[in-house]
Amino acid sequence: MGGQRIIIVGGGVIGLSIAEQLLRRGLKPILLDKGPFAKEASWAGAGYLDLRSASRVGGEFFELCKRSFDLFPEWVDRLKRESAIDPELIHCGSLDVAFNDEEENAVRQMEKNLKTFNLSGEWLTPGEASQKEQQLTSKAKSIFHFKETSQVRSPRLTRALIQVLQKGGAELRELEGVEEFVIKGSQIRGVRTAKGIIEGDQVVLAAGAWSGLLAEKLKISVPTKPFRGQVVMFRSKPGTLMHILFTGVLKGFTYLVPRLDGHIYVGSTLEDAGFEKTTTPGGMEKLKNGALKLLPGLSQQLIEETWSGLRPGSVDGWPYIGSVPGFEGLWLATGHFTHGLLLSAVTGLLISQALEGEKPSMNLNSFAVNRKPHAVAGI
Ligand SMILES: Cc1cc2nc3c(=O)[nH]c(=O)nc-3n(C[C@H](O)[C@H](O)[C@H](O)COP(=O)(O)OP(=O)(O)OC[C@H]3O[C@@H](n4cnc5c(N)ncnc54)[C@H](O)[C@@H]3O)c2cc1C
Repeated sequence: MGGQRIIIVGGGVIGLSIAEQLLRRGLKPILLDKGPFAKEASWAGAGYLDLRSASRVGGEFFELCKRSFDLFPEWVDRLKRESAIDPELIHCGSLDVAFNDEEENAVRQMEKNLKTFNLSGEWLTPGEASQKEQQLTSKAKSIFHFKETSQVRSPRLTRALIQVLQKGGAELRELEGVEEFVIKGSQIRGVRTAKGIIEGDQVVLAAGAWSGLLAEKLKISVPTKPFRGQVVMFRSKPGTLMHILFTGVLKGFTYLVPRLDGHIYVGSTLEDAGFEKTTTPGGMEKLKNGALKLLPGLSQQLIEETWSGLRPGSVDGWPYIGSVPGFEGLWLATGHFTHGLLLSAVTGLLISQALEGEKPSMNLNSFAVNRKPHAVAGI
């Protein structure tokens, strides 16, 4: 398989991590993006690496998340060494803060789910909680500490990946969107952009929320609906917050992610608003209220920036990872919805194995595009 030309469509965290894995295997992939690399969902995302929600989904979804979670330390170490950019992987742990019975019951259920995977946390007394987080509200009903939650700073992770790919001689083509695929019979032969045809032996579709639109060109269905997430970034002093904070259930869900330099990322809405990538007064209000409820002192801090991004939703929130039935040489790595940053490490590994003709180190049947939708959504 050594001399083959592999084209990756989409330079978000998924496309970049596949390209980096291929580079390690001695291949020089061609990576294309319609815009600059990694400025869509992969830039917008919080980058918390979370097994709490995956434990609710269970099955192969949890297994995939756990495999990826375990790959991060070594992967990030390598990227840091090779790029001199620190993706800021921090094992900060998280606190689930409940303000009422409904929220507390949801956290208790999560604790049960975690136990089925031999993962456990601890309930904190108000005194213990304020020792861990001095600025945390005193109005919480209960607080659950889970040590395993980590975070990575997504714009730094993707910058490190781009740097490694540049140094390694991958062909990086920004601002060159793929308009259609080139096929002969059922065999993929490359892609067409505004600049012409790029020949390839294999093509990976990793275009995030836009993947479904491209797949339509081949008359195949790859449902990847965009789900908007709005974000508010506060600026505060380093050390203001040490743990990731989660609160609320479903629509009222808010989380705070503290960065090393003191920034506090507050996310996020989950909205079906098409490809409209804007922030709204309602979204901002919800996030600010959620943040101040957890850390009242933030009311005195500066809001540095606000933005939104489009998560690539799938038919059931589980990603599509694997081949496309009916087409030779066409692969999917998309639909990672709310878990794409966490799942980037394992997706890169599995797809690169498949592209080289190896048996992927995990069975991919559950992630096939033509699967029956899973009963428990991967949120
Ligand atoms: C607000 C928010 C918070 C999030 N928080 C987390 C989190 O804490 N943890 C986590 O694990 N996940 C999180 N996510 C989800 C995660 O960000 C995504 O699942 C992940 O970034 C998807 O990566 P991707 O590479 O598939 O998509 P993207 O990053 O969207 O990349 C797709 C790329 O394809 C390109 N493209 C599109 N069409 C074409 C074309 N025709 N030709 C060439 N290129 C094309 C786009 O320009 C884009 O650069 C969050 C997402 C959002 C929006």
